[in-house]
Amino acid sequence: MRNQLLEHLAFLSELGVPGVSRDASWRRRTADGAEPDARSTLPAIREDLGDCTRCKLHKQGRRQIVFGVGSPTARLMFVGEAPGRDEDVQGIPFVGRAGQLLTKMIEAMGYSRDDVYIANVIKCRPPENRNPEADEVAACEPFLVRQVESIRPAVIVALGTFAAQALLKTQDPISRLRGRVYKYGGASLIPTFHPAFLLRSPDRKRDAWEDLKKAKALLEDGQ
Ligand code: URA
Repeated sequence: MRNQLLEHLAFLSELGVPGVSRDASWRRRTADGAEPDARSTLPAIREDLGDCTRCKLHKQGRRQIVFGVGSPTARLMFVGEAPGRDEDVQGIPFVGRAGQLLTKMIEAMGYSRDDVYIANVIKCRPPENRNPEADEVAACEPFLVRQVESIRPAVIVALGTFAAQALLKTQDPISRLRGRVYKYGGASLIPTFHPAFLLRSPDRKRDAWEDLKKAKALLEDGQ
């Protein structure tokens, strides 16, 4: 047993591991002495969110928090507004009618929902699907920011006016915002129409498809 341990330590030292200790601060050290990566994992962010009571939505009929779904290392991330009735029941973003259209849009790009990450600015369903309010965004958006920091997507597609305005900190409507590529941290951000809007205005699907093609091209360019 002792020999095995010594062999293991010699092996670690060959790999450049500076040493081992039961002290947690030692374990966080890296071989080159650099600061360890400060990003949280998605489960840690979900745990910090807890059974959230940071805004009034927790007492306005939400059944559960809808955190996000998909690959923790996705290169493509979709951000919507807030869960609706179906999402509130299932605990998964974009599973209702608009969600089914989003799934088709993702598949038309050549991906599956498992390849991407899908989240909302607001994690709890607003009553009667009313628009989220400023204090709700202020309480919830830090968790979206942390999700983006953890996943580090290359491209973010903002779905609809609300998500685009929240991410880009602007009051401009989606019709003015779409058609251009913005920066959000290290990611390229592409605003497009919300799939619920596309269900009501199918003639705008062509524009949305142009936006998604741009997102795919950026991903394939190694953006
Ligand atoms: N609309 C959104 O913005 N998000 C969802 O999760 C569902 C519908």
